[in-house]
Amino acid sequence: MVPSSRDECLVLDARDALAAWRARFDLTDGLVYLDGNSLGALPRGAGEALEKVVGVEWGRGLVRSWNEAGWMEAPTRIGDKIGSLVGAAPGQVLVCDSTSVNLFKGVNLALDLRPGRRTILTEAGNFPTDRYIAAGVTRLRDAHVESVDRAALAEAFGDETALLYLTHVDFTTGEVHDMAALTAAAHEAGALVLWDLSHSAGAVEVALDGCGVDLAVGCGYKYLNGGPGAPAYLYVAERLQDHAHTPIPGWMGHEDPFAFAPDYAPARSMRRFLAGTPPIVALATLEVAVDMWCECGAAPAAAKSRALTSLFIELVDARLGGWDIEVASPRDAEKRGAQVALRAEHGYALMRALIERGVIGDFRPPDMMRFGFPALYTRHVDAWDAVETLRDVLDTEVWRDPRYAERLPVT
Ligand SMILES: *Cc1c(COP(=O)(O)O)cnc(C)c1O
Repeated sequence: MVPSSRDECLVLDARDALAAWRARFDLTDGLVYLDGNSLGALPRGAGEALEKVVGVEWGRGLVRSWNEAGWMEAPTRIGDKIGSLVGAAPGQVLVCDSTSVNLFKGVNLALDLRPGRRTILTEAGNFPTDRYIAAGVTRLRDAHVESVDRAALAEAFGDETALLYLTHVDFTTGEVHDMAALTAAAHEAGALVLWDLSHSAGAVEVALDGCGVDLAVGCGYKYLNGGPGAPAYLYVAERLQDHAHTPIPGWMGHEDPFAFAPDYAPARSMRRFLAGTPPIVALATLEVAVDMWCECGAAPAAAKSRALTSLFIELVDARLGGWDIEVASPRDAEKRGAQVALRAEHGYALMRALIERGVIGDFRPPDMMRFGFPALYTRHVDAWDAVETLRDVLDTEVWRDPRYAERLPVT
């Protein structure tokens, strides 16, 4: 039964086993925040962690903190925690750099590991940075990108395919690829896979080891709530690590950085994929958020996000029927990430009007309004309020105000 009142949604919240997590985030009362798929909310513990890392570890400990405050181990320590959320055994995930830089590493590793093959197979709708990085790699070495429609991927492998290169959960529609099947198809064709998990970790269940994945990357500031520009992560399956050489062989990936040896020798562990000095202050807030995720667990969160996105879609169907608004995300919850995209001709102006009324989602060209439902802090009543506010914006036609059509630099 689709709820027919706000009160019914409040009842769903009262019964929600994860409802208490919301209090551990610093969210403004009355705000309906549905953009955690772009920038996750602020964990209350983040301020305290910053005071500690800045005031105590940096301020008092100074350089001694590299040894005494666990700074050196932070990239692998936090990496292992993220690994536990995406089905990776310890020793295979490293927190470092941005997603873009880790994509660059991953594409190069795959091409090195498949000598004689030069094709990077991807889908036309892959996230822009993923596309740009692959194209950038082809300007540096003998490789080329083959970009096909999603439906044609399984048939597109050839003798030249070195790498299947995909984002697991689509950044606009939230459609989920079948990681197990596509990884198996890539291996069958003699290729490796690299999955971008930016919209997966904290949103859906992932089994990297279970699917036999080779390489993966992901982002720290979306569903993981690590903070704006939080470091990203890289997964390299253990079986490949000894044979894989980073294209950015910086001193922190050396087997003994403080020997200051004249020549590079890679660490015999995941650390070999580090480039430079880890961003300790940024890692502190990421770790607070990742610890919360580890406490909650990926499976219950994914189940709650599925319930919330299903509720939102049902409410859109039930209450926005007269308007030209189309659900662009899969209707099968198992095939959907933790976000819903609505296609609307004037989606940009509609979203600007929604944001001004305290419902924050975002917009992706040409016509997609995106609404994210991160499990730890989003409520059933948020889905209700978002749909009712959208109904009001449509009914009153306030979105026609020309100022809503003016593009902002970040939306
Ligand atoms: C957000 C996102 C990124 C982010 O890349 P950065 O280098 O961390 O800015 C990369 N890939 C996908 C699919 C994303 O959604």
